[in-house]
Amino acid sequence: MKHEAPCPECGQMIFVDAPEDASDEDLMSLARDLCNCAGAQLERMKIRSGNKIKEFIEKEFPDDRAPGAIMMQAISTLQSGIYDKITLKKGRRTYTIDLDKDGFARVKSKYTENTETKF
Ligand SMILES: [Zn+2]
Repeated sequence: MKHEAPCPECGQMIFVDAPEDASDEDLMSLARDLCNCAGAQLERMKIRSGNKIKEFIEKEFPDDRAPGAIMMQAISTLQSGIYDKITLKKGRRTYTIDLDKDGFARVKSKYTENTETKF
């Protein structure tokens, strides 16, 4: 059924389709999905990059939960604004986590070849 709910970012009332028993929280999140204001667009981007981070962590560390947890912790630490960059190192691979100018998390991964040669 049709509900009217405020966008949580700008307060504009939006018509959304939802079941009769949908909570206010669900309705507001649906309103944010449909709203065109800058705040709603930014939130949608953040949610998308959050999902991408999860996919990245699952792909990079399939058998170990610890680095993923550390990485999520690193991102929220960076978002608090005290630190600029956090580095994780695993064998020859280095992951550098920082935020871009819009506040989105960025992970750079670098694989270092062992170039030492002994004669
Ligand atoms: Zn809005």
